[in-house]
Amino acid sequence: MKVVRLYMNNRLRNFNYIIGCEQTQQAIALDPMDGEAVIAAAKAKGWQIKLIINTHEHHDHIEGNPVVQQATGAAIWASEHAMTKIPNVAKGLVANEIIELGSMVFKVLPTPGHTPVHVCLLSLSEDTPKLFSGDTLFNACAGNCFNGGDVDQMYESFQRELLPLPDNTLLYPGHDYMKNNLAFSLAWEPSNEQAKYWQVAVDNLTPESMPLMTLGQERQYNPFLRLTNKEIIQGLQSHCDPLVKSPREVFRALRAQRDQW
Ligand SMILES: [Zn+2]
Repeated sequence: MKVVRLYMNNRLRNFNYIIGCEQTQQAIALDPMDGEAVIAAAKAKGWQIKLIINTHEHHDHIEGNPVVQQATGAAIWASEHAMTKIPNVAKGLVANEIIELGSMVFKVLPTPGHTPVHVCLLSLSEDTPKLFSGDTLFNACAGNCFNGGDVDQMYESFQRELLPLPDNTLLYPGHDYMKNNLAFSLAWEPSNEQAKYWQVAVDNLTPESMPLMTLGQERQYNPFLRLTNKEIIQGLQSHCDPLVKSPREVFRALRAQRDQW
């Protein structure tokens, strides 16, 4: 399996992914926004796009669907709950469904929160799992919930689907927000050495050259994966709500703060 990451160079800083099987040259276009760019990148690799998969229904994750579908004939798959929200979905994916294409194997993780129909894809065909997290888990942050989402569902998706994943899981998020998110991490946990290290390390990098991070690394600086951290909890108690204590309350309070960041 090989992953091509395309940066969209737009205000929303989207990443598009083309995931190819190097044995069969079959590929998946994940959340295509710029259909022409996705088609060109697949062509450059000699890949045939067989499937379009959308993590959720927001326009910046589906608007390349028609162009890619017209050029390749690829079917569009998305959550079973997205079939009325995304045009031309041919197959509704159910929780824990296994998707196979060539030698590639993925599991569908139901991760409502950013929107009610959101799914993540987890690759299972290699020693290093790859998590295509859409707008659920970002580098150093969680996705927002203010465009049809629900913060409690997001918290539960994190606990149920993401926390159990192994540390070596590579993260492929839907947007490049890492620099801004690390500043948010440090605002709530100023003593976090890993957040400081990565803030310096990525400062001069372009979005195209941002590093791929593992879940183990994310656990070290992503506040939404550090819900029992004393410094974060004490900061939220003194600046927001003295009663914030449980992991769910911390998650909610952090997300509310991030909305105003
Ligand atoms: Zn979105």
